[in-house]
Formats: sequence, C-alpha cells, structure tokens
Amino acid sequence: MTPGQGGRIQVLDESTVSRISAGEVVERAASVVKELCENSIDAGAGRIRVAVTSEKGRITSIQVSDDGCGMSPDDAQLAFARYATSKIACIDDLFACSTLGFRGEALASIAAVAKVTIVTKSREGAGISGTRIVNQGGEILLVSETGCPFGTVITVEQLYFNTPAREKFQKTVSTEIARITGVIERLVITHPGIAFELTHNDRKILSVPGGGRLMDTIIHLFGLPVSRQMIRVHAEKEGIFVDGYISVPELTRKNQYQMFISVNRRSIRSRILSIAVREAYGTLLPTGRYPVVFIDLSIDPSEVDVNVHPAKREVRLSREEEVRKVLISAISGSLGGASLIPEAGSSGNSVSGAEHPGRIRYHLPELGGETGVREPLLRERISTERQLSLTGRQPDTSVESKLPDFQIIGQLGSLYILAGTPGDDLLVIDQHAAHERVLYEQVTEYAEQHHDLQELLEPVVLSLSPGESEALSAALPLLAEEGFCIDAFGPGTFLVRTVPVLFGQNIEPGEVRDIIAGIIGPGMPRGIDTREQVRRIVACRGAIKAGAFCTLDQCRELLQQLARTRNPFTCPHGRPTMIVFPKQKMDELFKRV
Ligand code: ADP
Ligand code: MG
Repeated sequence: MTPGQGGRIQVLDESTVSRISAGEVVERAASVVKELCENSIDAGAGRIRVAVTSEKGRITSIQVSDDGCGMSPDDAQLAFARYATSKIACIDDLFACSTLGFRGEALASIAAVAKVTIVTKSREGAGISGTRIVNQGGEILLVSETGCPFGTVITVEQLYFNTPAREKFQKTVSTEIARITGVIERLVITHPGIAFELTHNDRKILSVPGGGRLMDTIIHLFGLPVSRQMIRVHAEKEGIFVDGYISVPELTRKNQYQMFISVNRRSIRSRILSIAVREAYGTLLPTGRYPVVFIDLSIDPSEVDVNVHPAKREVRLSREEEVRKVLISAISGSLGGASLIPEAGSSGNSVSGAEHPGRIRYHLPELGGETGVREPLLRERISTERQLSLTGRQPDTSVESKLPDFQIIGQLGSLYILAGTPGDDLLVIDQHAAHERVLYEQVTEYAEQHHDLQELLEPVVLSLSPGESEALSAALPLLAEEGFCIDAFGPGTFLVRTVPVLFGQNIEPGEVRDIIAGIIGPGMPRGIDTREQVRRIVACRGAIKAGAFCTLDQCRELLQQLARTRNPFTCPHGRPTMIVFPKQKMDELFKRV
C-alpha cells in the first residue's frame, strides 16, 4: 500500500522527529487550506471541496471535504497528535516520499489554535458508520459514531480563538480569500485529475472538473486567449521528465508570478529553475519579462529532499545541475519546434492547439533590421517627452529647490545623467529612480486633492484567473481612489476605464495589464500597506525607463523636477537617485594633490 493512502498512523520516534525540520506554525487561513487540501490529495481524493465562510470582517470557518481513503476511528484520534503520520515511519522513508505531507504536524498545529471537527469514514474498515471527533485547543472534546459517506470532512472554526494577538495579523477577508484562491490554483495546476471547488459564503470562486488534462485546467483558470498561446513541453533525459506548457515568447508577464514550477507535483519556488526557464528562452524574451509556464518535473523521490523548508515550498535536488540542463533543453527544444509552425489552425503537432483545435495566433518576433532599431527609439523619445511633461505640469513653487544648479554633461548608457555641480563635483543620476521619486511625490501629495483621472480611449479588458480576480476585487475600492476605475464584467473579466492622469490616454493595454498585475501580484515587500504599494507601482511604471534616450533638455527638465521634491536623494524603494564623485577625490586619484 502506498504510504498515506489508508496506512496506519503512527507517532514518529524521537530520533526521526529530531531529523525532520520543524514545520511552520499555521500562520494564516490560507496555510490551513493548503495543509488540509494536501492531506486530501495524499488521501487519494478525486474530488475536493473547500468552503470558507466569513462574517463581520473575519474568517469564521474553513471546511475541506474529500472522497479520499478516510480514517479509521483510532487513526482519526491519533491524527491530532504531534508527529503522527501515516506517510513515513522513519527517516529513510522520507527519501521515497511521494506524498505532500510527511511531518505529521499540520492537524496538531491547526487544532492548537482552533476548533477542529473531523467527520471521516474509511474505505478500508468493515463498519458501516463513520467517526466524528471534535478537538479544541489540542484537546479531544468528543468522539462519536456517525453516518457519513466515504472520505473526510474537516471543519476548522474559531481560528485563533485562544491566541487573539495573532488575529491582528490576519489581513482583511478579501485579501485572505485571494490568498486561498492562489493556494488552490497551484494545487489545481499540479493535480489536473482532481475536481476542485472553492466557495466563499456560498459564492463559487473556482470550480474545475478534474478531467486530468492540464490544458483543460489552463483553459478553466486562465481562459482561452492564454491557453492558445501555450506550447507543449514534454521531454525526458537521464530519468528526469519535464512535462507541461510554456508560453510563446509574445506572452510575457512583468514578474514571475505565473511561472508555475513543480517537482513531483509539489509546487515549489526555485530561483535556479526559474532562471533556467528564462535562460532557455534566451533572447526571445524582452529584458525584465517572464514567460507563463506550467511545468512539472518528475524525478526519482530519492533524489529530492523535501525536508528543507518549513512550508515545504522548496526542495533540494541532488542532481540539480542535470535537472537544470534537462529543463533548459526541453524548453528550448519546444520553442525551437514551435517557431517553425506558424500556420493558423494547425493541430496534431507538439505546439499549442494540439489538444484543442484553435488558431495559433502568434508570430516570430521581428529580429534585428534597421527599422526595428530606429522605430522604438523614436517612440521612446516621444514617450519620455510625454512622461516628463506630465510631471512638469504641477510645479510646486512652495517647495524650495533642494539641489544646486547643475551643469548637464550628458547621458550615459541611456540610463545615467552626468552633471557637474557648481563646486565641480561629478554627479551621476539614475534617471529612472529620479523620475520615480518625482512621480511618487506627485501621486501621494497631489492626487488626493485633484482626483485626476484619465479616461482611456477604449477600456482595457483584463481576463483574469479566479485567483487574480479575487485579488483584484479586493483591491478595487482602493484602486478607484487612486484613479483606476475598473468594472467587473462577467466572470474573470474586468474593464479598466480610467487610469491616473499621469499615464495619459495613450497608455498601451499591455502596460495597463502589467500595472494591475504588479498591484495584485505577490512579491511586494511585507508590512507596507496596499495604498503605498499602489503608489510605488504607479510611480515606477509611469517613470521614464532605464534605457530610454533623453535629450539634454529632457535631462535638465528631469533634474529641475527632482530638485523640487521633498526627498530628491532616494527613490520610493529607498535606492539612491544620485551618487557624487567629489572633485577632491578625483584630484587625489589623478595625483594632483
Ligand atoms: P502529515 O500530512 O504530515 O502526515 P497531518 O497532521 O497533516 O500530517 O495529518 C496527519 C495524518 O492524518 C495523516 O498522515 C493522515 O494519515 C491523516 N489524515 C489527515 N487528513 C486526512 C484526510 N483528509 N484523509 C485521510 N487521512 C487524513
Ligand atoms: Mg498533512
């Protein structure tokens, strides 16, 4: 019998416990959902339902039901003990571990901070009735027989009832629901064979039928437009299997949040593997852009150490370098194959469309060529002009210039402005950071009074996954205050009608999508409130780019604007906007003094 699928629960002995890295305490509602769903998956469930309820701004219950193997009455009681697991019996088993759980800690940690009710019936046992157990704060309050279907229903209520201090850290309900949706999305992607459903106060947020094909899951979660831009990856080398889909180079995101990488169906974060994916795309990807990928690596469990991260989000691979190479060659192989097949309507080959007939709507990026080089430069100059003029419109004469008059020397690498101070020190200014500071102060100080909105010529349509939709819905009121009027328009679809005025009317739809993705995506520094995050992103996106050519006049204009800010010396992220090379120092270096 596979461990975890109905095996007996045992409490791990001390020496095993001492070699298992400590798991994370259950930090938040989304971690509870993750742990419970992982248990259902380990129990061989074909259907998992998650129902969350909230009232008066707090999550009141989380219920996860499955049709998995269930537990015998004895096991169901033991499941609450710390280090009680049916998945491993000793440390060696960890190296053959194919289940998501193995520490035997989750139920114990959840029960320590909540009231947990388990109703379960084992498929193995002879009895006709199931078991109902209530545990509160780690103590079993009730064990009774009950009629119930095969499988397990775990209900968690009064979360943090005995540690009220922790509840303060719970974000608002909508943010927490967005996190929960994100957790489930990752499980759905790694387990296309399981039917999942998520509801919040009876509102259905996500529902997938679990037919088993990843492409169907992608269509369900991300919609047809994204699925049509997917290329199949399927390769094996040296016992390392790579399977999944990657986006054509035209479909990119500004951060890594839609790079779903898993090892043996465990969703992981891995810097090395993410970098490998980008490396495989090589020059096909614009700088600073990331593809959308859904990739699972199947590797012999003996080569995967799952016991390295408290939340099991990272793994250590014993043949990491080989895995990296196989991944790169699988992806570049698929990209190479795909680029040869640009015809519309083709099917039955290894590119997107193989699993669902449809048009393949992408083309190879234009490479080189003089027009390809000159045209963006012109566009860039115009957009630099526009970006600068927007921030130049509101000169605040009450703010004194904090910088001396500079003599502009020129621009270096389309990134740094070189200037001399009256005392002949050399100043190097990062144009992007400088403009970001200007914008940030305007956004924070003026926007509140002016409520300046820019109506877009045509609303930008956003097609979002359930997780993204939840995150965006949570942020809508705040975004509206900041100048983004966004209407919900059918499931997963939103219309952006206005943007803050500093972006202008001609902002490109892709840019709008990126800004919204930046706001709702993860990866923001912790502890900074959402309004502040929105302002920083708006400032960053609206600012002239590193790499944008500036004329001398534009450099001058930018420095004048910077001089009028309250803090010209750092960008909103705290990086310096300028560095000084004192003349004195140069004299010394040239051995003049
Ligand atoms: P772990 O998953 O690391 O083993 P948990 O505390 O999450 O530890 O669960 C303890 C044990 O309870 C599991 O090993 C499993 O035997 C049993 N269990 C938990 N949830 C379920 C479920 N939904 N179906 C069947 N058994 C379960
Ligand atoms: Mg578990």
